[in-house]
Amino acid sequence: MPGVLRLPARLLNDLRAEAAARPDEEVCGLLAGHGDTADTRLPVENALHSPHAFDMEPAGLIDAMRRIRESGRELVAIYHSHPHGPAYPSATDVAANQYPEAAHLILAREAGEWRVRAFRLDGEIAKLDLVVLQDSAGG
Ligand SMILES: [Zn+2]
Repeated sequence: MPGVLRLPARLLNDLRAEAAARPDEEVCGLLAGHGDTADTRLPVENALHSPHAFDMEPAGLIDAMRRIRESGRELVAIYHSHPHGPAYPSATDVAANQYPEAAHLILAREAGEWRVRAFRLDGEIAKLDLVVLQDSAGG
């Protein structure tokens, strides 16, 4: 069971921007890639439009899963934001988790800054090492 989630700095910046653009509700979606490395973000509408909970809109979720499959990628992680913190899974996140095989990335605004942490919710909460891959300098 891998204890790491890798993603490019560009993708992390996009996630932070998405969360910051919707401070009044949790944003959510899927990260696709290969193994423990995500390279693609697929936002899904939060059907609850709540700042304290999320439920991925079913049609959007099905569409995102199809796009992952058609691109030859795998589901690597679920992401969502906590506009009011903390950067830790809520009891609901653990109870409602339908993807024990995927990593869970949480973006949380704490003290005015968006913090990002990764977990695996496999019956219990296990913190993953988040490895940010620096984009090549174009060499
Ligand atoms: Zn949550």
